[in-house]
Amino acid sequence: MSKQVCIICGYVYDGALPFTELPNDYACPICGVTKTKFAIVTHDFKEAFLKIDYGLYVLTTKDGDRDNGCVIDALMQLTDEPPVVAFSINKANMTHDMLMKSREFNISVLTGDAPKELFRVFSTKSGRDIDKFQEFTDTKRSANGVLYLSKHINARLSGKVIDAADAGTHTLFRGEIMETKVINNKDTLTYSEYQKDVKYRRMFCYQCQQTAKGTGCTMAGVCGKQPDTAREQDALTCEMIALAKTMHEQNIYKAMGVDLIVDGLFTCITNVNFDKENLTALTAVIKDKRIKHGGKPAMESDMLFGGDEDVRSLRSTLLFGLRGMAAYAHHARILGKRDSEVDAWFIKGMAALGDEHSIDEWLGLLMEFGGVNLKCMELLDEANTGVYGNPVPALVSLKVEKGPFIVITGHDLHDLKMLLEQTDGKDINVYTHGEMLPAHGYPELKNHPQLKGHFGTAWQNQQNEFKNIPAPILWTTNCLMPPKESYADRVYTTSVVRYPGMNYIEADSNGHKDFSAIIDYAVRLGGYSEDRQFTGGNGGTTVTTGFGRQTVLDNAPVIIDAVKAGAIKHFFLVGGCDGAQPGRSYYTEFVKQTPKDTVVLTLACGKFRFNDLDIGSIGPFPRILDMGQCNDAYGAIQVAAALAGAFNCGVNDLPLTLVLSWYEQKAVCILLTLLSLGIKNIYIGPSIPAFFSSNILNALVEKFGLTPISTPEADLNKILG
Ligand code: SF4
Repeated sequence: MSKQVCIICGYVYDGALPFTELPNDYACPICGVTKTKFAIVTHDFKEAFLKIDYGLYVLTTKDGDRDNGCVIDALMQLTDEPPVVAFSINKANMTHDMLMKSREFNISVLTGDAPKELFRVFSTKSGRDIDKFQEFTDTKRSANGVLYLSKHINARLSGKVIDAADAGTHTLFRGEIMETKVINNKDTLTYSEYQKDVKYRRMFCYQCQQTAKGTGCTMAGVCGKQPDTAREQDALTCEMIALAKTMHEQNIYKAMGVDLIVDGLFTCITNVNFDKENLTALTAVIKDKRIKHGGKPAMESDMLFGGDEDVRSLRSTLLFGLRGMAAYAHHARILGKRDSEVDAWFIKGMAALGDEHSIDEWLGLLMEFGGVNLKCMELLDEANTGVYGNPVPALVSLKVEKGPFIVITGHDLHDLKMLLEQTDGKDINVYTHGEMLPAHGYPELKNHPQLKGHFGTAWQNQQNEFKNIPAPILWTTNCLMPPKESYADRVYTTSVVRYPGMNYIEADSNGHKDFSAIIDYAVRLGGYSEDRQFTGGNGGTTVTTGFGRQTVLDNAPVIIDAVKAGAIKHFFLVGGCDGAQPGRSYYTEFVKQTPKDTVVLTLACGKFRFNDLDIGSIGPFPRILDMGQCNDAYGAIQVAAALAGAFNCGVNDLPLTLVLSWYEQKAVCILLTLLSLGIKNIYIGPSIPAFFSSNILNALVEKFGLTPISTPEADLNKILG
């Protein structure tokens, strides 16, 4: 029986079942690609050769007026005194013939950011058919008169051929190196990385915490996003940048253009929109608008995540922050709130993504953005509390009562309100899921008696938890996972959330949504015949919420007295997103181990790791105080500022530590806001964002004391001394 080798990672299938009889959805156990990426192993030496790794280089030479070059991989240093290297070139290459004549060469040492285009020009094309340097223009000439690549390299070596030996299909050259130049400290691109990351790269996305191998999704998204959807999101982003540049240059801040950009950004957040056709349609609308205003064409989407590592890092951080802020601006706008400064900054920030900036300018933009995002969160706070009242503490049951019910998830309180109004008096109960939990604290939402309780644990458990429930589920924002067949008929999405083939509820021109289809389906499904008691992640049967900004501030005198009396020694804000990574149990353990004289403020969905725990109370308060959704970070900042005012100190001097868990892009904008406020020594986990380059991370550590989480024990010891 012949073996099959994965041409991406070199894994060899040698199982008992013939490869052809493996199921069609068989995936490589190492890199996850499908069966189509496997090839029969015909010679054992080839299989072994696939295990040899080496760097990749472009060797260039010049014969008279003619420049040419090709990719080589077989290069080695022979001696350093004298500096001599050896390399081989296929005799069929024109570069080979030119080098035999000219004897002069340059070697450009490639780095991992080398684009596919470079390999198309220097690897798959012949100098006999094209002038390669007409197609690849990022070049310079060294003292020997030979061209070398000026981008995507870390070093250049210039040399002369000493001798050439026949090696069958190839010629083996020895060359003396006459001059070298080190450009940067980036790693050299290896052949195996090229195979995996460049040649077969079908997409690139590294915006969320679960990104593949902690570096980037290149074959398909860990979240389920397909390559064509990812590429369309990139195209949409580039069109939004082009439209923003047009608006910025012409000083036009039309609400319509801002809204298109805000919704386009929101659409690209992790677990929001998997519908490529919808993205294509949105891209077309934005492109039309740009053309109508005489704007210049959008940049190539390959450029979005290309270029210098640090610049790419800073550009990505701003883009992902803007995506996060867009979600908040969208929710505020739906409730009738917008702010001209926030609107203008969407245009300024998006336009800035298409321009060149120094590192200092990028850092300045990020800090400015953090301040604007605070304003945007304040806007949403005003909108939510203005329409639904200030949240009040609520004990929320995890029991589902018998009879028809609907589960609603995401962050959009307006969608929930419309659903509640349309289910009033119909004997259909409504249960929140995920980030909708804080709705139970809002007076204008909780006054609908059919808003009974909360269903489910963390969002990443949805594929398991939704499969058997006799009820439809409405997604209003992230986090949608690819629905399983077992509940696909019960999936309803609305707003920016879309998944091909799933039910979608559109708003009419007044923003009204007709939820009768989901209500009718809930009636047909009928719900449970008896009450069902569910539990949280730790076995609890209730959770609390509603400790919003106003409730905490109203109780400030009690809290301040408790601090002065020594009953409260420290505050922790353990907040942020949840995710599937096993390392996230850190947050459960951390909260469990906090001393009894400390208070845990929390917000966003990371709390599902611990919000059903009973860790006691201090005076009238439970020790875990749920302040709300991720955007309620605004409220937490107000509380911190008020405490600092009461104790006549800065926020950094308070007995307060922020321990953040991040997953998607709203966490990015919140982090930038906290840093822009000068808040230091924030703990962050479960991993550092892949889009922070080492230099940028070092800068954040040095300036702000940003600290990766370690273990709950070690971190608590460090914090509490
Ligand atoms: Fe990968 Fe996250 Fe991007 Fe999905 S959103 S493709 S998981 S980095």
